[in-house]
Amino acid sequence: MSYRNVSKEALVGSITLGVVFVAGYFLGKKKPSRMSISKSHGGGKDNPLIQYVLNHSLREHPVLKKLRLRTMEDSWNIMMVACEQSQFMANLAKLIQAKKALEIGVYTGYNTLSVALSLPEDGVVVACDISEDYTNIGKPFWKEAGVEHKIDLRIQPALKTLDDLLSSGQAETFDFVFIDADKVNYDGYYEKSLQLLRKGGIIAIDNVLWGGRVVNPAPDDADTVAIDKLNKKLYKDTRITLSMLTVGDGLTLAVKL
Ligand code: SAM
Ligand code: CA
Repeated sequence: MSYRNVSKEALVGSITLGVVFVAGYFLGKKKPSRMSISKSHGGGKDNPLIQYVLNHSLREHPVLKKLRLRTMEDSWNIMMVACEQSQFMANLAKLIQAKKALEIGVYTGYNTLSVALSLPEDGVVVACDISEDYTNIGKPFWKEAGVEHKIDLRIQPALKTLDDLLSSGQAETFDFVFIDADKVNYDGYYEKSLQLLRKGGIIAIDNVLWGGRVVNPAPDDADTVAIDKLNKKLYKDTRITLSMLTVGDGLTLAVKL
């Protein structure tokens, strides 16, 4: 596949923060104000290592590829999950034999489709978003892939959907959660997801590095402050085990004890 065709978020992931610092050092430049693991948006020729990773590991379902290409036509395509990260999460869901998943922040539903494809026939993804415009882009592709029956899309603020799930007796029934909506509500999404998750289930939290801004959050930057606060909380949280991965824009995996 051509590197040029992957999402902008898919381009994030190969070069470590350290490389950014070292490159800056050797070029005699100031530390960049916004650090990122990789922000090479110029195409595969700029980042042969990511191209190699994609060429040697990405096994994208043909309908996922179609949805990715359609999403690239949208002006907000930078919001789409990195496809190699999405494949990784689908593998994780398979590994824990997930049947019930939650997607908090759907956009055009690339990851929703990827997870749905990884679930058994009687599996379900509760997909939470506030935008019909974005999710309507994905719906025909969910149908084409033959998994629309596994996707329960709820258009309303995700906190409300999580409360609905809790009040309908679904606590401790979910296997896998992906948190990827508005950052200021991340702590609320985490707390409610943890209640909905069964023991041994996984919460994956996206953008935990937020372009490197978490290293030195500006006090008036509400998104960065919220992410950093949650990162600090999770580090001490004895209800989970965790890993913070430098994939994409940073991905924390929390496993419920
Ligand atoms: N996970 C998606 C993927 O696989 O490509 C990307 C999600 S995108 C980064 C964030 C999404 O969160 C947007 O579609 C936005 O409409 C949605 N969102 C923002 N605030 C929300 C809220 N309060 N409740 C539910 N969804 C929200
Ligand atoms: Ca994201």
